[in-house]
Amino acid sequence: MDPTLTVNGEVSFWHAALGGAGATRPALPGPTDADVCVVGAGYTGLWTAWYLSRLDPGLRIVVLEAAHVGFGASGRNGGWLSGILPGSRDRLAKGAGGRDGVLALQRQLRAAVGDVVAWTREQGVDADVAVGGSLAVATTGAGLGRLRAELAEERDWGASPDDIEELSPDAVNDRVRVAGAQGGLFSRHCARIQPAKLVRGLADAVERHGVVLHENTPVEVVGPGLARTPLGDVRARWVVRATEGFTAGLPGHRRDLLPMNSSMIVTEPLDAPVWDAIGWQGAETVRDAAHAYVYAQRTADDRIAIGGRGVPYRFGSRTDRGGATHEATIAALTTALHRLWPATAGAAIAHGWCGVLGVARDWCPTVAADPSTGLAWAGGYVGDGVTTAHLAGRTLAELLTGTDSERTRLPWIGRSPRRWEPEPFRWAGVRAVYSLYRRADRSEAAAPQRAASSPLAVLADRISGRP
Ligand SMILES: Cc1cc2nc3c(=O)[nH]c(=O)nc-3n(C[C@H](O)[C@H](O)[C@H](O)COP(=O)(O)OP(=O)(O)OC[C@H]3O[C@@H](n4cnc5c(N)ncnc54)[C@H](O)[C@@H]3O)c2cc1C
Repeated sequence: MDPTLTVNGEVSFWHAALGGAGATRPALPGPTDADVCVVGAGYTGLWTAWYLSRLDPGLRIVVLEAAHVGFGASGRNGGWLSGILPGSRDRLAKGAGGRDGVLALQRQLRAAVGDVVAWTREQGVDADVAVGGSLAVATTGAGLGRLRAELAEERDWGASPDDIEELSPDAVNDRVRVAGAQGGLFSRHCARIQPAKLVRGLADAVERHGVVLHENTPVEVVGPGLARTPLGDVRARWVVRATEGFTAGLPGHRRDLLPMNSSMIVTEPLDAPVWDAIGWQGAETVRDAAHAYVYAQRTADDRIAIGGRGVPYRFGSRTDRGGATHEATIAALTTALHRLWPATAGAAIAHGWCGVLGVARDWCPTVAADPSTGLAWAGGYVGDGVTTAHLAGRTLAELLTGTDSERTRLPWIGRSPRRWEPEPFRWAGVRAVYSLYRRADRSEAAAPQRAASSPLAVLADRISGRP
């Protein structure tokens, strides 16, 4: 292990900072009846429960969680509460709502950033929320080309200069000094959060509104009207699958969502002279423009938390045990940290961890509720799930209660993307694709003035179908 790394795993730094991860609620005591049974206590499951309890306070809602609140990505993520629409707008526009439907989805997602921020204030949930927008920085000519293409696409989809704008290298450095910055984009639709504080605060809030939460209660089978656990069955009119990156562990769902791994490290709090060298006096989240990109936030207690792909996928859709990540990934993220911000070279790394997010074969998210079976689910947020899960949960609650709104007509509803390839093709494919992305990044970094993206990345995009 890297000699400066103090902790690896323990679910995440975010939980550790709150005194550690672990269950605090009783497991399911035995067979139970409910109106709605939610499987998974992450953002999707808990926002669904929250809005259900608001729309119909009489509903009996039970949430079953295999481990503890925020055990999944919701307690481990990078803390970008962003308005980024996951997936491909063009693909979603092929659905019933067409272009207008995608514009409505985008509008709802951006509004959801503000809704979550307002909710934390109304509910007295201190989740270290700071609205600072988001900065994307290119340190290669090829990366700058991709950011400009991204900006052009945003403009095509109606974004104004107030939503997102291009920044010169000087303008990037005025916000955050990034070594070798060639330019960037600034989007205002993003807030920084402490993920575990949000998910734990959300769990407490749903309980205050009568929702019953059981931890240490793994669901083995999800079927019409039924969630089967070793502790007894829960029978319910609706069963909501809110298991995103863990979905492949449920019988019948092995190839629905690929559990994509993402890893993070966090520094010890940085001294004032280091911050003076870096700038970053605001709360912007920051990412680079590499194919295997990194994402970062300045935490409320003055650390840098930075994440990236690491080992992208484990054979057979296995998930990690408790968040321990590979030494090579910690080393790679530390190198990225030092490359972007050389002033951090002397900073100790306090904690490393990883988690899984869900990716559908067409890389687009879905919200679904089938009244004929009583089965509902949402997921496939491709690493942009913090805000998306809020919108998905709210939409599920409206669909389950028959509440009509603009959200219940959005184009991500009721999609059934094709399934992932069986093993070993799935594993071999993801491995090959990320090795191409890494080689492409190395070749672009070796020629930072070259404007064209590496053909290796173009090939990887074609194989993976990544938009
Ligand atoms: C390292 C990392 C960084 C990320 N960074 C960002 C970011 O900065 N911004 C962003 O928007 N998105 C980010 N994401 C993605 C985002 O965190 C997720 O998309 C989102 O949290 C998914 O929420 P969820 O509730 O659907 O799933 P999860 O939070 O994964 O929750 C699923 C829950 O279901 C439980 N469960 C699973 N199987 C069962 C079962 N059989 N029975 C009972 N319970 C079960 C799990 O224990 C878990 O608690 C990141 C993800 C990772 C891993």
